[in-house]
Amino acid sequence: MDKRFTTKENPIILGIESSCDETAASVVCGRKILSDEIVSSADIQSLYGGVVPEIASRAHTDAIAKVVERAVKNAGIDYSQIDAIAVTYGAGLLGALLVGVSFAKAFAYALNKPLIAVNHIRGHLAAAYLQDETLKPPFITLLASGGHTAILHTKTESEFEILGATTDDAVGEAFDKVARVLGLKYPGGPNIERLAKEGKNTVPMPQMFKGNGGYNFSYSGLKTAVINYCHTKEQKGETYEKADVASSFQSTALDVLVKKTVAAAKERKVSTVTAGGGVVANGYLRTALTNACEKEGLKLVLPEKRYCTDNAAMIASEGLVQYKLGNFADFDLTAKASIPLSATLKTVQNKA
Ligand code: AMP
Ligand code: MG
Repeated sequence: MDKRFTTKENPIILGIESSCDETAASVVCGRKILSDEIVSSADIQSLYGGVVPEIASRAHTDAIAKVVERAVKNAGIDYSQIDAIAVTYGAGLLGALLVGVSFAKAFAYALNKPLIAVNHIRGHLAAAYLQDETLKPPFITLLASGGHTAILHTKTESEFEILGATTDDAVGEAFDKVARVLGLKYPGGPNIERLAKEGKNTVPMPQMFKGNGGYNFSYSGLKTAVINYCHTKEQKGETYEKADVASSFQSTALDVLVKKTVAAAKERKVSTVTAGGGVVANGYLRTALTNACEKEGLKLVLPEKRYCTDNAAMIASEGLVQYKLGNFADFDLTAKASIPLSATLKTVQNKA
């Protein structure tokens, strides 16, 4: 336990997130969200077909002070009531992360409050705690995001076992790449979901369960099959229904996640399932997971859609986990562009 600060039962934590194109700040008290502010540069980024790091950094610099000010004001507190400041230090765009980290360090120093370094993916995993204040491990967690796809056995708030993960592309990455081939704008995932609603599952897709592969996944074959299908049609001058491609791809990419998550819960004899990451905002996945868990008698805790995509409440939520462990950061904290999943899930006990 860090001796520099005394901790309390239900602290007020300010969360700050700036890892990609969203500048976000949120105030939570224990697991209750008091405020949640977000400013996105996605509209500008979509003009370029993806996130331009320099544009993201500049947008964060413009927005951060206003977003934090609004979060504190809307929480109905004053700055002195904040017990800790939790900030995303990685993984993400280096320049973007540095805006949040520098701001949080200055803020923590000025207020003389502890600074908490939060791993962005751990934030996605902790979003479920905001949905159900009584939620306690053990549970099986589906992590489905732009950079990671994995099934975890969450044993305590800070101990995880990776049961399976993608061996190549992440599911969100596959959504983004397929969206591009279909001529959809950034961000790809939500646009595929929208288009898929108008389509039917009529386009042949590769088998996702070959050899069953334990709890591992592979998305590169599926992505390539969709790209080849579209290119072949175009080269032959044949027309094809993009909505059918979107629908067939979406169900193939997501059904496997649902099946393996439920199978893991049954095999591990764990009765609760949670999920986190941007792809969990997908309506098809949410319905399929809800139905499968209901059928198997499993309790499902799904964060609201807005807490699946990037937000600062989830950063404050993981901040609370670290706060309870006394894991406070020093002012030499710096941003990290990439962090492997194994390191992400490892909790280092600080300052014994
Ligand atoms: P994350 O990396 O967890 O922050 O989430 C970003 C990823 O989630 C991107 O790859 C998005 O395309 C994906 N995503 C966001 N919303 C949806 C959606 N509604 N359906 C599918 N993928 C989505
Ligand atoms: Mg994210």
